[in-house]
Amino acid sequence: MLETIKQLTLSNYQLGLEFAKKQDHNDPLANYRNKFHIPKDTQGNELIYMTGNSLGLQPKATKNYINQELEDWANLGVEGHTEAMNPWLKYNEYLTESMAKIVGAKPIEVVIMNTLTANLHFMMVSFYKPTKKRFKVLIEADAFPSDKYAVESQLRHHGYDDKDGVILWKARKGEELTNYEDLQAIFDTHGHEIALVMIGGLNYYTGQYFDLKRITGMGHKYGCMVGFDCAHGAGNVELNLHDSGADFAVWCTYKYLNSGPGSLAGCFVHERHANNKNLNRFTGWWSHNKETRFRMRDEFDQLPGAEGWQLSNPPILSMAAIKASLDLFEEVGFKSLIQKSKKLTGYFEFLIKELKNKHIKIITPSNPEERGCQLSIQVKNADKSLHHKLTNAGVISDWREPDVIRCAPVPLYNSFQDVYQLVNKLKLILNE
Ligand SMILES: *Cc1c(COP(=O)(O)O)cnc(C)c1O
Repeated sequence: MLETIKQLTLSNYQLGLEFAKKQDHNDPLANYRNKFHIPKDTQGNELIYMTGNSLGLQPKATKNYINQELEDWANLGVEGHTEAMNPWLKYNEYLTESMAKIVGAKPIEVVIMNTLTANLHFMMVSFYKPTKKRFKVLIEADAFPSDKYAVESQLRHHGYDDKDGVILWKARKGEELTNYEDLQAIFDTHGHEIALVMIGGLNYYTGQYFDLKRITGMGHKYGCMVGFDCAHGAGNVELNLHDSGADFAVWCTYKYLNSGPGSLAGCFVHERHANNKNLNRFTGWWSHNKETRFRMRDEFDQLPGAEGWQLSNPPILSMAAIKASLDLFEEVGFKSLIQKSKKLTGYFEFLIKELKNKHIKIITPSNPEERGCQLSIQVKNADKSLHHKLTNAGVISDWREPDVIRCAPVPLYNSFQDVYQLVNKLKLILNE
């Protein structure tokens, strides 16, 4: 334990490729890289993949998981619902426990269904209940665009003006990160007008991981509902959703959870709402009591917990890919992953700082508790050509206008040597 803490301090990292090699050699999780397909260039060299925050890589096992379902479908047809090796009727239940562990929730609070923005809308159907006096929604100023659009359209749907109705939690002039004093000031002034607080739990742009419990406490004190979009948090940081007390949370599974482009999303509804039949919600046959679902004529009987928000029978092929990924997470253990993540990103931060380049600023918080694996690096006077050069040098990273590169060394498949190579290439390009 002491050893781990020691290794986390910047002064314990060293420059040079040898150090990176030694870290990889001693990394108990190093072998997991081999369980993923690493994209290659046209010469067959592995690329330096730093965009697991955008689309996680494919586990080699995923194909077998999907093939199993294809085979059962081929051989059994509709009987696969009950006779498949993993009977399809219960497929979502095979995912619940591992998913709940990763986001720090109880199984009854978690369900995999729909896609992310769709889930956000379904949650707002239940938890955004505007009245004339209290109709506003508080979001962070640089929220992911889809979340902003979703919130604005909910306001319009309820007959409110979306300019009037959105309160932005902004960073101060000249700063990149928002702070809690400003948030408190917003609540002090507008708390009683806010119906819903909807924050990106880990901001996609800055990489700042918010204190979910603190924000929830502030919101609840003023009688607001509180929800988080944890797309950049799930599989990346310990979210502790249950303890945060948040009313709901949503996330996708194709970023840090490696389940494939456009795969199904996750949804958390706090246990205290598990049997609340007074919440507005949209329902379908999959929100109905499982025991009597197929009698088809019964009066609607609400399924308790997060599962009660499902509408449709889900796409099994997508769930199979999620299962492949979650089984890997189970095997590794989330705590070990977080430990490596902190070391790997700490090393990344160390190397960037050692460039001692006055044009470079890391805008992500330096406190490991306030970030995940992503670092957002601002390069003053740079433009998108920097990103092109990095791409040509074999680095897959992400460019955000006007001048930010986002890189996420993912502990499941990125190595210390990846990070070393990335920074080395960046250095060469900047010195050109
Ligand atoms: C990735 C991401 C999305 C994307 O939404 P989809 O519905 O999956 O297309 C939305 N919000 C946030 C915060 C994200 O990080």
